[in-house]
Amino acid sequence: MLNALDYNIEEWQAILIEMGEPKFRAKQIVEWLSKGKDFHEMSNLPKMLTDKLSQIFEANSVKIHSCVVSKKDGTRKYIFSLSDGNIIEGVLMSYKYGNTICISTQVGCRMNCQFCASGLDGLIRNMTSGEMLGEIIAVNKDISEYGERCITNVVLMGSGEPLDNYDNVIKFLKLVNHDCGLNIGKRNISLSTCGICDKIYSLVEDMPGITLTISLHAPYDDLREQLMPVNKAYSIKDVMKAVRFYFKKTGRRIIFEYSMIAGVNDSIDCAEQLVRLVRGLPCHINIISLNYVEERAMHGSDKNRVQDFLEYLEDQEVSVTLRRTMGSDIEGACGQLRRSVMEGAKCESVVDQDFTQEYADAAKVECEQPSYEQESSQEQDSNQAQDSIQAQDSIQAQDSIEEQYASQDQDAIQKYNINNDDN
Ligand code: SF4
Repeated sequence: MLNALDYNIEEWQAILIEMGEPKFRAKQIVEWLSKGKDFHEMSNLPKMLTDKLSQIFEANSVKIHSCVVSKKDGTRKYIFSLSDGNIIEGVLMSYKYGNTICISTQVGCRMNCQFCASGLDGLIRNMTSGEMLGEIIAVNKDISEYGERCITNVVLMGSGEPLDNYDNVIKFLKLVNHDCGLNIGKRNISLSTCGICDKIYSLVEDMPGITLTISLHAPYDDLREQLMPVNKAYSIKDVMKAVRFYFKKTGRRIIFEYSMIAGVNDSIDCAEQLVRLVRGLPCHINIISLNYVEERAMHGSDKNRVQDFLEYLEDQEVSVTLRRTMGSDIEGACGQLRRSVMEGAKCESVVDQDFTQEYADAAKVECEQPSYEQESSQEQDSNQAQDSIQAQDSIQAQDSIEEQYASQDQDAIQKYNINNDDN
């Protein structure tokens, strides 16, 4: 069976014409599929057509195998099964301003970052665009009683390196952004890469406007090469050149992810080098203490170390957020739960009606964010600080901050262009 979600409107039109059907039905089919409906539920299509289609296509080849809900913060970690028997994972995080899903783009990963469980078995295969879309549609269906579109933000930060599966990822981004489909805005989509530079340049042409996130994790080459073998192919200098280009062409502030690993990259010396690296580039740094991955024998930095690192960056007026470790009680690190399931650990499906309602409600609440000044102020009292940390701990938050300060960004772009005309 073919996965119906793999096709865009134009491809559906061609399929329908081939079948002797009017091409306007393509839009109807895509709309129904995006709501998670099966062919027999497409009530405005003739039964003869839906019967024919259901013999050839599967409405969504991605099925929820199981779901585990964090008792700490409500994060929902999904295991999905694919039609060839492979399994992947995704994570849903709920905030008062919406629901963010982190999806996988490959089965496994060949980048072999030394702190990550997803790369332990290498790359099994690329996922198709329809399989990526299927993750979101399956979760929308799972958390909404009436098929509403509850997911407001998408992050490509699960298993796999998105830019190593470039064509399928670009097709997925166009599908998820399409107004007949899920219609998720580019500003609500974030792609995280370990730094495949030539594809960053291509992204400017093929899908400008999404948020680009760089998994940095080390501020100088020797250390980054130890942690992330990709750095041998693309040095930090290459990465910084590519992100400057991305910013210059798109005006989108760059996000850097920095997982703090005890005794490895958490010194003040590292913080100093990090400041030097990003100085002058409109960007934001997310720091987080690494989720422990047993096979990698690496531990996250302790709270004091993280706090010192954070304060150093703030003192240097770097835009930085300390992110909460989401879902740490449910094997929250990339690839961990999938490995547990593959190794036969018990993974019970949890259906919790309260959580379900919470997610549905979250999608309806308008975004209320603290201002950028509040975020970086040294004078906030402890209550404000607590509120701010809770409000800041998502990529949605970063995006909202960016939207509020779009005009600041425009100034920054102008200044940046003036200072970098020679580059
Ligand atoms: S961190 Fe990302 S790129 Fe690196 S091995 Fe894990 S999934 Fe792959």
